Amino acid sequence: MKIGEIFENKKTVFSFEIFPPKTTSSVETIYRTLEELKGLNPDYISVTYGAGGSITDNKTIELSSLVKNKYGIEAVAHLTCINSSKEDIEYYLNSLKNNNIENVLALRGDIPADGQMKGEFKYASEIIKNINKYNDFNIAAACYPEGHIENKGMLKEIENMKRKEEAGAAYFISQLFFDNNLYYDFLNKVKAANIKIPIEAGIMPVTNKKQIERMVSLSGASLPKKFTKIMDKYEYNPEALREAGIAYAVEQIVDLISTGVDGIHLYVMNNSYLAKKISGSIETILATENKVY
Ligand code: FAD
Repeated sequence: MKIGEIFENKKTVFSFEIFPPKTTSSVETIYRTLEELKGLNPDYISVTYGAGGSITDNKTIELSSLVKNKYGIEAVAHLTCINSSKEDIEYYLNSLKNNNIENVLALRGDIPADGQMKGEFKYASEIIKNINKYNDFNIAAACYPEGHIENKGMLKEIENMKRKEEAGAAYFISQLFFDNNLYYDFLNKVKAANIKIPIEAGIMPVTNKKQIERMVSLSGASLPKKFTKIMDKYEYNPEALREAGIAYAVEQIVDLISTGVDGIHLYVMNNSYLAKKISGSIETILATENKVY
């Protein structure tokens, strides 16, 4: 099923994002994780594409296929074009088709440290246009509620979202954020620019301070005082930090759902404990929103 159809039929879409495990971790671990995630009834699971990874040694298709064909959950395979030729991308898309996968998140990818971009497509909008022209995929695109790190201005971000919508993106998934008010300002600007496709809000629960500091340096997301207070207070107590991080994410999600966002995309980082705790806390709220009268 194409994810666009889920947005047409549901008020609030709920999805998870996972990554292909390192080759050293066991197959049983990922099977167990997927079994547990399946029990939480997500609308779909998206699978990341290794940063700077090449098409052929990439494990995204393998894991996406497992999600879709073994566990019966809709899968969205991420794809970055920064290092790939047109032929590589064609190969990747054909492999997706052969694995019955109809959804792709089309990205440019981060510029490598050496500044070298080997791919033929310069921006995500170009690859979206290309995929849309020759293939029958449902295409998701990334958006940045606080602007993209290379181009912090909101005007630039809105212009880029327009380009991606016009190129054929069916919906957006947002970068993680910790301040809902910033997200609502962003949505107002998107609406004023007449961007019509749905936007899923990306939420990442904190599990440790280092991980969040890394994510913040990569994404430029701002941290509200309320949030940094929790991190500072429980920095050396992993269990307390994890539980406080879950509570913070739940509070964010409840506020977002009750404000009427199109969807919640949970960066679960292959951690089914986080997914279970958060899904359990919002189950009734989601069911109420999605009730058909
Ligand atoms: P683009 O939309 O191409 O934008 C990149 C920059 O170029 C922006 O600053 C934009 O303003 C600018 N720009 C775009 N078009 C133009 C133009 N025509 N003229 C001038 N400037 C322009 N990375 C991975 O490696 N693997 C993943 O699996 C992955 N998954 C992600 C999932 C989500 C939900 C998100 C939000 C990000 C993900 N990323 C992933 C990170 C992403 O690859 C980086 O943020 C990357 O730097 C930008 O990708 P993009 O597709 O948004 O690029």
